[in-house]
Amino acid sequence: MNHILVTGAAGFIGFHVTARLLSQGHRVTGVDNLNSHYDVRLKRDRLAELRQFETFEFHEADITDVESLSHLFVQNPFQKVIHLAAEVGVRNSLLKPLEYVQSNVLGFVNLLEQCRLKEVEHVVYASSSSVYGANRKIPYSTHDAVDHPISLYAATKRADELIAHSYSHLYDLPTTGLRFFTVYGPWGRPDMAVYLFTKAILEGTPIKVFNHGNLKRDFTYVDDIVSGVLGVLEQIPVRTEPVSEATAVDLNDQTVAPYRLYNIGNHQPVGIARLIDVIEQRIGKPAIRENFPMQPGDVLETYADISELQQATGFTPSTSIEQGIDRFVDWYLAYHSRGK
Ligand code: NAD
Repeated sequence: MNHILVTGAAGFIGFHVTARLLSQGHRVTGVDNLNSHYDVRLKRDRLAELRQFETFEFHEADITDVESLSHLFVQNPFQKVIHLAAEVGVRNSLLKPLEYVQSNVLGFVNLLEQCRLKEVEHVVYASSSSVYGANRKIPYSTHDAVDHPISLYAATKRADELIAHSYSHLYDLPTTGLRFFTVYGPWGRPDMAVYLFTKAILEGTPIKVFNHGNLKRDFTYVDDIVSGVLGVLEQIPVRTEPVSEATAVDLNDQTVAPYRLYNIGNHQPVGIARLIDVIEQRIGKPAIRENFPMQPGDVLETYADISELQQATGFTPSTSIEQGIDRFVDWYLAYHSRGK
């Protein structure tokens, strides 16, 4: 049994990762500031599910708070850290630039400092497919250049990768970044397409369709993501050969220990128009589609090359969009029938 810290544990992915770790018998401490990016009740309801496990402990705290994070690390000798707390979403980052840099960059450095001081065995952190910017070369590979972010959110995630690299390089702190590709599933985020479209179809309100639905996303089912994250935690060797300070390090060189970076996606992009079709069919009701132009910061297609993660851990996503939507709509109807 490991003692693992999960930041962003009340969030969508953090909740699922924590639930799986707890069901495997690990001890988990969750941290989250319960921000109001979307309905806080959903975060509290996720936490209520997690609290059914005796081996779960929760701290409402902000990862930018140096003292409370330091106190937490003094009280708890965490072996591993899964960092998922962040200000999320491309569009919102245009409205709240300071909050994004504060949480996503300063908060991450604050966490890495504690991990370095307490010699945490492995830090696994969330990056994002958004770092690829308007890259047109598909599928996206971690060997592609990613120095042209087109949103502030993407820039903060790329900054995290660079900062993680410097911590691994300087202090031999094992870090693994995972570039998530559009995650969906039960307990999902109300600000994301799958939730928004399901809600709109059920309530008979219009769906905003950007670029006439000619956008593709590599929608990845949350259980597949959790398997990928835990595969990294269990199978990636840590505390390997220190990197020589004198070595010029290639950021994308996966062999440079102990810094690693992978794509984690479904490797099967789905058009937004098709996604709406699948949800309509599952619900048995047509959508009202309203067309809008492309939004600033948006990209035409995301598509993950997952061969490196596959090779390293055997990661193989197995949930089709139809299966995933089926499970999401089941959850949505059950959750909202409880008066939520
Ligand atoms: P989420 O918003 O549901 O979860 C993030 C959680 O972090 C929230 O509960 C929020 O309250 C918490 N948080 C934010 N700032 C904090 C701070 N300063 N201190 C403490 N807690 C803080 O989002 P999610 O979809 O679960 O995303 C998890 C991670 O995965 C994020 O880092 C996100 O950038 C990344 N990611 C998600 C997706 C996706 O499709 N969901 C895609 C790419 C990357």
